[in-house]
Amino acid sequence: MEHLDITLDTAFFVAWFEDVARTVRLHRDRLIELDAAIGDADHGANLDRGLSEVRAALAGWPPTSPIQVLVSAGTTLIRRVGGASGPLYGSLFRSMGKALEPPVTLAGFAAAFDAGVVAVERLGKAAPGDKTMVDALVPAARALALAVRDGVAAPEAFALAGRAAEDGARATVPLQARKGRASYLGGRSVGHEDPGAASSALIVGSLATVASGLRQVPGDT
Ligand code: ADP
Ligand code: MG
Repeated sequence: MEHLDITLDTAFFVAWFEDVARTVRLHRDRLIELDAAIGDADHGANLDRGLSEVRAALAGWPPTSPIQVLVSAGTTLIRRVGGASGPLYGSLFRSMGKALEPPVTLAGFAAAFDAGVVAVERLGKAAPGDKTMVDALVPAARALALAVRDGVAAPEAFALAGRAAEDGARATVPLQARKGRASYLGGRSVGHEDPGAASSALIVGSLATVASGLRQVPGDT
């Protein structure tokens, strides 16, 4: 069977972070409002600032491998984004980078992304259902793994992951927070989307945006 595959190169990963930075900028006010409802209203501003610095660092340095892009982005987020989400997103990208083996196929990406999500779960000690970013990241990792198993091509696989992350974020609305600042509210955290889950859906959603612009080349023909 001829199947379409793509190599996810350094430029793809740089484009991913550029699109994430752009998208978070567009949704900055919504993320601030979500965090105002069940946190301290800093999530949109912190992430926006951190991602601008990620972009600046990547543009100024030119990284030469996907691993360098991810480790650099993760390190910048840990240094520049305060609060809970900086170290958690930093850990997602750094752990993902360390798990990558170039040349990066979709299967390799999916496995590395899963390693990053596991690192977030370990660091934050959060599980699905705790009303955190994990509620968007875990379904995204699962959707990617299933897409790889089923031989789905990259743009569609990323679109499936993006939808799974969005559904996961939306599903945090009726939950009561059991981790992070929102957990201090107890029952009053119910009825609001978790800001970290919302930003995670944007991060995963950017993969589909960037991949849809990629040219597919025939695989082992
Ligand atoms: P802070 O709560 O310190 O102000 P942010 O506002 O930047 O940090 O990020 C809040 C988000 O971080 C939450 O919406 C949630 O998704 C995520 N979060 C907080 N604590 C945890 C945790 N222990 N595990 C996973 N995610 C967490
Ligand atoms: Mg906050």
